[in-house]
Amino acid sequence: MTSLAIIGAGMGGLSLALAMHRAGHACELYERAAELTEVGAGIQMGPHVMRRLYAWGLKDALQERIARPLTLQARDVLSGQVLASLPLGRTFEQRYGAPYATVHRADLQTVLREAVEQGGTTKLQLHATCMRWDEQMDGVSLELQSGPSASKVQIQAAALVGADGLWSRVRSSGWSLPEPAATGHLAYRAMVPQVLLPERLRSQVVTVWMGPHLHLVTYPVRQGEWLNVVLLLQPQGPQRHMAPGWDLTREPQEVAADLQSAMRRGCTFVRDLVGMIDHWRVWPLYGRGIVAGPDQMARGRVALLGDAAHPMLPYLAQGAGMAIEDADSLAQWWTRTELTVPQRLHRFAEARWSRNARVQLQSRRNADIFHATGLMRWGRDLGLKIMGQRLLDQPWLFSA
Ligand SMILES: Cc1cc2nc3c(=O)[nH]c(=O)nc-3n(C[C@H](O)[C@H](O)[C@H](O)COP(=O)(O)OP(=O)(O)OC[C@H]3O[C@@H](n4cnc5c(N)ncnc54)[C@H](O)[C@@H]3O)c2cc1C
Repeated sequence: MTSLAIIGAGMGGLSLALAMHRAGHACELYERAAELTEVGAGIQMGPHVMRRLYAWGLKDALQERIARPLTLQARDVLSGQVLASLPLGRTFEQRYGAPYATVHRADLQTVLREAVEQGGTTKLQLHATCMRWDEQMDGVSLELQSGPSASKVQIQAAALVGADGLWSRVRSSGWSLPEPAATGHLAYRAMVPQVLLPERLRSQVVTVWMGPHLHLVTYPVRQGEWLNVVLLLQPQGPQRHMAPGWDLTREPQEVAADLQSAMRRGCTFVRDLVGMIDHWRVWPLYGRGIVAGPDQMARGRVALLGDAAHPMLPYLAQGAGMAIEDADSLAQWWTRTELTVPQRLHRFAEARWSRNARVQLQSRRNADIFHATGLMRWGRDLGLKIMGQRLLDQPWLFSA
């Protein structure tokens, strides 16, 4: 019997496998995809995330791939005015013990995967889909569909962790919680080599451009050579239903035309930037409620982490970060061998649920703040002008 079986080799599952290895424990990691690939999109990682990745020995590997933005700034998408900015340089890094970094998702995945493989204690099996599980007195029995022929395989493990994302089957097989629902928000994502942009549109800072019912986020990745651009749109009025995942039903030119229209009142910078990019992809955002207690993250010998447990709107840029924090915490509790397996998982859930809930809640609030109109927008801008640096800096998030 394997000790710990992890379902899903996304950011959360790979992180848990690595954290387990670093803590001296072997595990098995099952991923339904036939190969590990990642979408062309970026991830922001605050110092709370970077500290953990560094502690897992990834500093050198990350160094070659991340970008280290100079500043985090908030701007008005209509006027282009800078409303507030937070320097992310040496003082910030000293304050929090690690830098604020941005990375291409595929690069982070490669770094994690290589470290897991080099560790040599994780059995990573691709093309293995968890179909169901059943908890027994002394372990968990899993049914997997494996390989191109989808043959049934039965696995026994001392414990099971569902790191299988928003549509988690581990969760739906053991928890009667509501399934994810469309939020109505859309994410348009693109990446562009900075060298293809005119000098005035290149950027080495993280910018959140806030506007009515939308915001745009731009930041460098790949040592600053590429610019990641995400437009988050909260369309008004009736919308056509979009299935989860990339919306591949529309031609890139149509999508680009939508964006031009959404940006028509934007300042010159954003209009020009959006106009320079001809390949966008659309991702409808789905979500679930705020995690309400430890029981929603662990029961008996089964635990959930990352999006499987607490998906969040990307408005605080913390989904992957919280999955990495979960992984770190779970691996630490796993080493407490004086506790029973269910006790270890329960302690993990107790340690994590309220922080995850707080981050989920703040992500939701940011949607209202970033997309504000009228008086609320006026108040937001005034607040940012007066207390900008204090509002952008988030010790509660970055210090933990
Ligand atoms: C527009 C946008 C921007 C974002 N920006 C940021 C950011 O800047 N910073 C940040 O921290 N986060 C960000 N996020 C959030 C982040 O992408 C997610 O929270 C994170 O990827 C979740 O990781 P996960 O490992 O929990 O789940 P996933 O990445 O979804 O991984 C789940 C894995 O499980 C596998 N799987 C699913 N079902 C099964 C099964 N039955 N059997 C076997 N395998 C299975 C899947 O194939 C997948 O590989 C953003 C998200 C969006 C949409």
